[in-house]
Amino acid sequence: MTDSQGQESNDPSSRRRLNVLSTDFFPAYVVWELTLACDHACAHCGSRAAVSRDHELSTKEALSLVDELADMGTREVVLIGGEAYLHDGFYQIIRHLKTRGITPVMTTGAWGLDLAKAKLMAEAGMSRVSVSIDGLEQTHDRMRAKKGSFTQCLNALEAIKAAGMTPHVNSNFNRFNQSDLESMYVLFEDIGVKAWQVQITSPLGRAADRPQMLFQPYDLLDFLPRLARLKERGLQKGLLIMPGNNLGYFGPEEALLRSPKKSLTDHWAGCQAGRFVMGIESDGAVKGCPSLQTEAYVGGHYKADESKSYLKKIWLDSTELQFTRSRTREDLWGYCASCALADSCLGGCSFTAHGFFGRAGNNPMCHFRARQFQKKGLRERLVRVQKAPGKSFDSALFEIIVEEFDSVEPPTRPKTDLVSITG
Ligand code: SF4
Ligand code: SF4
Repeated sequence: MTDSQGQESNDPSSRRRLNVLSTDFFPAYVVWELTLACDHACAHCGSRAAVSRDHELSTKEALSLVDELADMGTREVVLIGGEAYLHDGFYQIIRHLKTRGITPVMTTGAWGLDLAKAKLMAEAGMSRVSVSIDGLEQTHDRMRAKKGSFTQCLNALEAIKAAGMTPHVNSNFNRFNQSDLESMYVLFEDIGVKAWQVQITSPLGRAADRPQMLFQPYDLLDFLPRLARLKERGLQKGLLIMPGNNLGYFGPEEALLRSPKKSLTDHWAGCQAGRFVMGIESDGAVKGCPSLQTEAYVGGHYKADESKSYLKKIWLDSTELQFTRSRTREDLWGYCASCALADSCLGGCSFTAHGFFGRAGNNPMCHFRARQFQKKGLRERLVRVQKAPGKSFDSALFEIIVEEFDSVEPPTRPKTDLVSITG
């Protein structure tokens, strides 16, 4: 099962498959950016979405890609953008996914998602839609750089329900919006949201341009216990909180946070990029995960061909999609290489680690790691030393400073004006 950002869950069946042969990996869960065109210009957008990419897949090519996914055994496709509904073939693609036995779901900023559109989506075969909400009204509208965006998200959730689809929410947390966490929970419980996927803002795309917005590793010492308390309440109230895969790892609340039910048996089980997860950019670029950095992780560009096996060739043959398939602790570096949990964790989320250091395998955004430093009266602080070039799914470079730390303070909201409002 993917969460609303296309990040894979850590269900036990996934873990049982960790040692299968390379040819047994398949793109069970695919996150597909239909277009980079967007009606928002969010401050933290990893793809820097705004206008379409050159050479985006046509509807005909997209339908052919759906056929290839079906042949490869894909179970679920999360349509994203930009805004997926801005692609000309949006409804046709949903319908074809459904016809071919693949569950179509969607993640959206929802600016243009009214009742008429929601009904067309439901009629085409969409059953679940996750709306991106990043704070209460003032905070959300600033992060999303659009006045009225928050109100429209709430309207869209009503439209999704009225059309018979299941409403989910996903949120990105950071120093700018973390103080809204508990109030957001209360709101979502009140309006009947069924699932809430919570991730942290990683330094990708526009978020890499705003390092003061990002959590520091030691902020997890405050944020994760707060989230765990809400998770407990949500399990009683029918609002399932699930952590995104960059919200790491192995703190005292690990089982509570990662388990979808009260059984509390799950834990983080390593990055699944290129194992059972695939990301596709709107020009047909294929990666192991939608959030991986384009320059380093694109394994090829999809082309519709007669044999209907072009996507499979990229999946099986390109080295860029294979880096997690035989990963061991030997592939880790820095603190993660010597971590007691390295064999289970394998360095956490790859795109997040790469977003800090230009290379996967050493992830400072980890609760276990922050607690280990805290026990020694120390903390790690990340300092940006090189800016991102300004391309879609790009990264800056950071360095780690280890410094004294003997108290947990709630992260403070940056005073600088991070985001200007447009619209
Ligand atoms: S320190 Fe690294 S390997 Fe250890 S649990 Fe954290 S992310 Fe995983
Ligand atoms: S890089 Fe790996 S862990 Fe991170 S979101 Fe992608 S698939 Fe999940």
